[in-house]
Amino acid sequence: MFSLQGQKALVVGIANDQSIAWGIARALRAQGADLAVTWLNARAEPHVRPLAEQLGAEIALPLDVSQPGATEAVFDEIASRWGRLDTLVHSIAFAPKADLHGRVVDCSAEGFAQAMDISVHSFLRMIRLAEPLMPQGGCCLSVSFFGSSRVVRHYNIMGPVKAALESAVRYAAAELGEAGIRVHALSPGPLATRAASGIDHFDELLAAATDRAPTHQLATIEDVGAMAAFLAAPEARNLTGGVHDIDGGFSITA
Ligand code: NAD
Repeated sequence: MFSLQGQKALVVGIANDQSIAWGIARALRAQGADLAVTWLNARAEPHVRPLAEQLGAEIALPLDVSQPGATEAVFDEIASRWGRLDTLVHSIAFAPKADLHGRVVDCSAEGFAQAMDISVHSFLRMIRLAEPLMPQGGCCLSVSFFGSSRVVRHYNIMGPVKAALESAVRYAAAELGEAGIRVHALSPGPLATRAASGIDHFDELLAAATDRAPTHQLATIEDVGAMAAFLAAPEARNLTGGVHDIDGGFSITA
């Protein structure tokens, strides 16, 4: 089995023990990686800090990517404590409720910009800050959804946002490949998380996924974690720029 022993990994996006980022953090830790973990704000801290402690996270800090300087502060801490980073996990997304629940054509300019900033540009900012900490190469992962390339009812503005995220992954992978920095999107099927509860009729999406997927199983955060751990491993050194479906085969069905 591949090992992440001695690797340093930053995981952004744990809100609770149902978060995809929690599944990823656990898998990276299980394979031996040392972790840095962040939480959104003071309200999130009591939910996330115990999880960070459970995994023996060496660095645990607040991070709201919309706050100027906040992302830089996390990377400064990583630079001074570890001097390097091997894996970056960006598992965050946001769109204002009114825009998320409305038609794409009605999305406000402010809501569009905010959704793109938190869900896409923050990943690019993190990759840029990670680059000097990855002189021997590394792996940068974000989390997308099938609604990027197909119209999924009620996914609304997050569809174009995830399309931009996947495209950003490909461009970043092309730009950083020579430096050995690999960039991927993980694309799980629907999972009952807090972010997902903001999407209208999410239960219908879960039911359709179970019905249509060849495995008739929903993806789990453990499935996503296993894929992330593999992509972070040296054995995956020649994989980059991918959007990896973890969906029981849902995306191959018509
Ligand atoms: P979640 O609610 O557990 O995680 C979302 C995270 O985003 C939270 O930790 C939240 O604090 C963070 N976040 C939001 N705004 C932020 C900001 N300004 N700064 C820093 N962090 C911020 O839900 P999740 O489902 O685990 O979501 C993680 C990722 O997975 C998202 O990108 C989501 O779009 C994606 N995804 C989810 C599903 C699903 O069905 N749940 C499927 C495919 C992809």
